[in-house]
Amino acid sequence: MTATLENKIKNRIREAGPLSVAEYMTVCLLDPVQGYYPTRDPLGADGDFITAPEISQMFGEVLGLWCIQSWIDMGRPETFNLIELGPGRGIMMSDMLRATSLDPDFKAAVNVWLIEASSALEAVQGRTLGAAGVPVQWASRLDDVPSGPSLIIGNEFLDCLPIQQLICNDPFAGKDGWVERRVGLDDEDRLCFVRIDAPAVAGLTRNIPEGADDARKDDLLETCSSVAQIVDSLAQRFANHSGRALFIDYGPEDTEFGDTLQALKGHKKVGVFSDPGNTDLTARVDFAALASVAQAAGLTASAAVPQREFLSKLGIEMRAVALTRAKPDGKSIIARQLNRLTADDEMGELFKAMCLSSAALPPPLGLR
Ligand code: SAH
Repeated sequence: MTATLENKIKNRIREAGPLSVAEYMTVCLLDPVQGYYPTRDPLGADGDFITAPEISQMFGEVLGLWCIQSWIDMGRPETFNLIELGPGRGIMMSDMLRATSLDPDFKAAVNVWLIEASSALEAVQGRTLGAAGVPVQWASRLDDVPSGPSLIIGNEFLDCLPIQQLICNDPFAGKDGWVERRVGLDDEDRLCFVRIDAPAVAGLTRNIPEGADDARKDDLLETCSSVAQIVDSLAQRFANHSGRALFIDYGPEDTEFGDTLQALKGHKKVGVFSDPGNTDLTARVDFAALASVAQAAGLTASAAVPQREFLSKLGIEMRAVALTRAKPDGKSIIARQLNRLTADDEMGELFKAMCLSSAALPPPLGLR
């Protein structure tokens, strides 16, 4: 009988000691044989979670308009890359491309690239985008997409990147005052968090953002070294060609302390150790840290703008009116969808949009 992913993780801990939270997330989400993403389509009403493009076509459609305006801002290049990070079922890309049909020159110039870690979802994306009428290709890393002017979009992508967890042990000791929280085994052989009582290695403390300077003893900080890798890759790409990267995700505008690693199954929160490989694991995105890493790499970062404000500036209310006029029977459904995307007690305030741009581009539409 094959060992469960939980047992494989426990064996690794027995052999090599506690795993970093990042290693735990990576195994659970991406183990090629038993990991969460490679083995299922997790999205939608029958899945574990639902995302903005899955709620309503309006989301991708107004982002399509954002793409047209960005392409115009870049000087209407005759050929360019439209790259999506973590495209899920390909619905957002499909809605964006439909909206961009408004501008045939955009459609003639676009080369779509999808960066997807799960072969199961790659197959779904292939079916969704089969009739898109533009070239669609896959790459395993952003660096593998050919150079050239590029627009990059990731919705609920950054939240599934592996995070590290650090605990402030001595607020007066600077970066040496942080220790790491890892995943180990308790007395009854169950997975649990353990605190490593030695200063965290420099590779981890390098990513501590300025906003963590006022940490108090025992504050927990989450950092994400994969974000720095993505920013590096964007900076290289934008060094010779213009481009923008738009990230939409849940998280605060400023760095906050606290453990936000969460697991979802069947649209409900469950324990992060409850069923490794069969629950979605995410953590909120630290937009302040993202902006400061991007600025240090020479990119221009917009503010982290609440989703409500961003979608409203892109005209989502007008799109809802037009859709309702075309489908009067759908009026209450469309109103409910709009509310889920934009109301403060739904996704409107918790979710933010942030754009990282190459130098010398005007401020992006809908952001500040
Ligand atoms: N953007 C989609 C899906 C969000 S779920 C939507 O809004 O509906 C997260 C997506 O990122 C999934 O497609 C998942 O397979 C993919 N993913 C997770 N980690 C990844 C990684 N390291 N590299 C590339 N894709 C990844």
